[in-house]
Amino acid sequence: MAAVLAALYIVCHGLALVLVPGHAQAVSFSFLIGAPLLAALACLRRMHRSDARVGWFALVVGMLLWAGGMALNMYQEIGLGTPDATPGASMLFYVLYGVPLTFAMAHPRHEPWYLILIDGALALLLGYMFFVHTFSFATLSDAPEPGLGSLRMMFDIENLFIAVFALVRYLASEDAPRRVFFRALTLYAWLYMAMAFYINHFATDASYGGPSDLLIDLPFLLLAVMALRDDPERGDATPRRLALAVRAGSPLILPAALLVVSAVMVKAHPHLAVVGFALATLGSGLRGVVMQVRAMERQDQLDVLTRVDALTGVANRRAFDQALQAEWSRARRSGQGMALLMVDIDHFKAFNDRFGHPLGDACLRAVATALSGCATRGTDVVARYGGEEFAVVVSGTTRDGALALAETMRLAVERLRLATTDPVGSVGATISIGVAHVALITSVDPGTLLAATDAALYDAKRAGRNRVVEGRLPEPR
Ligand code: GH3
Ligand code: MG
Ligand code: MG
Repeated sequence: MAAVLAALYIVCHGLALVLVPGHAQAVSFSFLIGAPLLAALACLRRMHRSDARVGWFALVVGMLLWAGGMALNMYQEIGLGTPDATPGASMLFYVLYGVPLTFAMAHPRHEPWYLILIDGALALLLGYMFFVHTFSFATLSDAPEPGLGSLRMMFDIENLFIAVFALVRYLASEDAPRRVFFRALTLYAWLYMAMAFYINHFATDASYGGPSDLLIDLPFLLLAVMALRDDPERGDATPRRLALAVRAGSPLILPAALLVVSAVMVKAHPHLAVVGFALATLGSGLRGVVMQVRAMERQDQLDVLTRVDALTGVANRRAFDQALQAEWSRARRSGQGMALLMVDIDHFKAFNDRFGHPLGDACLRAVATALSGCATRGTDVVARYGGEEFAVVVSGTTRDGALALAETMRLAVERLRLATTDPVGSVGATISIGVAHVALITSVDPGTLLAATDAALYDAKRAGRNRVVEGRLPEPR
């Protein structure tokens, strides 16, 4: 439907040129301003439905700038009656139109505001440099022929830059909304580049109002059609590594654009070019630092997640295994003793059955907190061994010290009260603890210590629960 309307638009444009030759220019201008405005409206509509909002919004701004440039052209040629002149102000609008597009490409996704701020500042400087560059060749009302060559080169560079980077980002879009957005931007940008190249370098029409104008409509109508298409924002993903590389690299697009423009301007505006070089370097450096800090923070969080039990907040099984091995090796070297406690909640299945799993979980958390509260030395490690079992690695301790700690823990849990909706009002829990101490370590593997602790816990259960039982390691041979 949208494609049919777009075709109709071109047909009407062509017909108007033929039917009202006396006012061909004014009519043509209306169509040329209308096409980007239609594209802007379509992008605005898409923006509200898409997850790639920033991108579609940048296109809206870009289309409005382009339409503004064409409106200035119209004012110049029809309003002021200076046909064939190329006004610098409209040139400026055409060049500036690339800034929001470049911003959209530099913008990976869901970025924090301070990164958008850095990109925004770079995009603004880029816009300012375009401004200075444009007006070093043109005045507000005129762009003389010798400068036009340089302006055309700037357009070519800008268009190529947008087309190539849009394609790269499309090929590596990491999710469907951006894939749809960058596909639209890529097709538009390549068609726009071809159109602009032809119009700027080969079109023979002296001014607007000729058949070449129909070509100018094309990229905008294509963009409008693609923005209006209801393609679902899902689909197959790009290879992960390519997507990540482009996502990490796309913030370089803005600094790269700044560097290119600064290089082009170095002769005419050396000071501004130096500012451009400096800010491009600083901006990408600053972004790099921010990204690095964020990556390190995330790594820290992940490290914690891999070592902590999510339910109780104490060390998890993996961290326990490491702590036990580390303490075993340390005790073996130092000749100091160590102990291991294996803790199991009594009749926990019945507890769950009676009070429900949520209260069972609360009980697990309360027991973990109580155990941690007793293990006051920084070197002791309380861990959730699995299910409703906990293990405590006690470093540099005597046999009596370990037994005393186990008894303290047993008492601490015995004192716990958990509120329930049950008529009893509150409920407690008890634990059985198996303890094994080793004074002089000769073997490499802590397996014997674990086995002795396990056996002691079993004995504690058999002896009636809610008690501490000591296990013995086999005599070293
Ligand atoms: P014993 O005194 O012999 O240890 O009896 P018990 O019922 O505690 O022992 P058993 O090993 O048969 O039951 C352990 C129960 O612990 C079974 C399971 O429902 C419960 N459990 C294990 N992990 C969790 C958990 O993460 N949350 C809750 N609420 N319950 C758990
Ligand atoms: Mg149990
Ligand atoms: Mg158990």
